Amino acid sequence: MTKICFLKEISKHCLLFLQQKRDMELIKDITEVRSLFPALSQSVNGKPLVYFDNGATAQKPDCVIELVNKMNSGINGNIHRAVHELSARTTELYEASRESIRCFINAGSREEVVFTSGTTASINLVANSFSQTFLKKGDAVLLTEGEHHSNIVPWQMACERHGAKLRVLPVDENGCWKMEFLESLLADGKVKIASVSHISNVLGVVNPVEELIEACHRFNIPVLIDGAQGIIHSSVDVKKLDCEFYVFSGHKLYGPTGIGVLYGKKEYLQKMVPWMGGGDMVGTVTFEKTTYADLPLKFEAGTPNFIGAAGFGEAIGFLAKIDKNFMKKHEEVLVAKMLEGLASIDNLRLYGISDRKISLFSFNVENVHPTDIAMLMDKMGIALRSGMMCAEPLMSRYGVSGMLRASLSVYNTVEEIDYFITSLKRVLKMLS
Ligand SMILES: *Cc1c(COP(=O)(O)O)cnc(C)c1O
Repeated sequence: MTKICFLKEISKHCLLFLQQKRDMELIKDITEVRSLFPALSQSVNGKPLVYFDNGATAQKPDCVIELVNKMNSGINGNIHRAVHELSARTTELYEASRESIRCFINAGSREEVVFTSGTTASINLVANSFSQTFLKKGDAVLLTEGEHHSNIVPWQMACERHGAKLRVLPVDENGCWKMEFLESLLADGKVKIASVSHISNVLGVVNPVEELIEACHRFNIPVLIDGAQGIIHSSVDVKKLDCEFYVFSGHKLYGPTGIGVLYGKKEYLQKMVPWMGGGDMVGTVTFEKTTYADLPLKFEAGTPNFIGAAGFGEAIGFLAKIDKNFMKKHEEVLVAKMLEGLASIDNLRLYGISDRKISLFSFNVENVHPTDIAMLMDKMGIALRSGMMCAEPLMSRYGVSGMLRASLSVYNTVEEIDYFITSLKRVLKMLS
């Protein structure tokens, strides 16, 4: 009951995002932030956990865990279906979450916010539904060299079905898009959609998406932004960006797994046919013909992850309580500290260099296998990612079979970076 009341306050949170007022009691203290995440106080391999794998998934704050537990242990009834009380409550939580996400990204209406199971599902939805109407033989889809497999494979599959081809905007040595190639890739009118990452999960630099969107629009090409990382490290306003689609996952933004969002401009979502059929996405059904439900339900076939969706709404509410300036400054401090630390290590190559760097660092040390480093660091309590990071074409671009990645979040500290750098130096000595 109390939690539902809390979620009813979510429209207040919405306002908060737009204008975090000075007299509101916002959290701006790293110790307080950390205290809200129970996972951070555990030990791993006998050492205090240093969780530097936030690019893969983030830890969850108390409020999200509590809401999910409460729903699993009682506030549980299928949404949009029954007249009974539990169904009414879950429906309210589900739709309140949609509303808070709408505010969070400044979408124009709830019809433009579709729940999916994550970034991957959102891209597959667009790759299927958009392509069915808009992609023909001889057409092309524009990607960049820095994309996650989730933003390559669904398009490749769509191209195979429709006789279209992929076109790829290359990245330079520093991992920045080679914008000088863009115009020539678009000029012949064959590209029907561009699908690009706001921030690559490997390179950790903010891409010039505004410029790309503007160029694509000059050729009437719609743009999908893979915001799986972008939503965490920048404030996203889909109206200002003016992209046609923006997609992201709950679990990287302090929410539960198995929930994600597809934002789409209404004019496009209306023209697209659903790619999954089932309950809740229909108007009327006969064996001769089915009509579809209005947006956004048209794209939400079957029982959705309503508990995950509500938990995601709660995560958004949590974010609204953290001081935006604190978050921005804190990340700047972490980035500077990490760059300084990495620069002090011999033969280390950092991938992704730009003044628009976020707290995500992929690198290699000459003649040392990244997985060996990651395994030894794990023994010291430090969680890192190693390998191809779902971006094999980017690995090929740099001529490597893998990288090591440290990706930080709002709850990481300068002390953890110190410990990370000291430990890395120790590990490299052990391996040399
Ligand atoms: C994590 C990630 C994805 C895939 O997200 P899922 O939650 O696994 O569906 C896609 N693109 C980028 C840039 C990512 O970081």
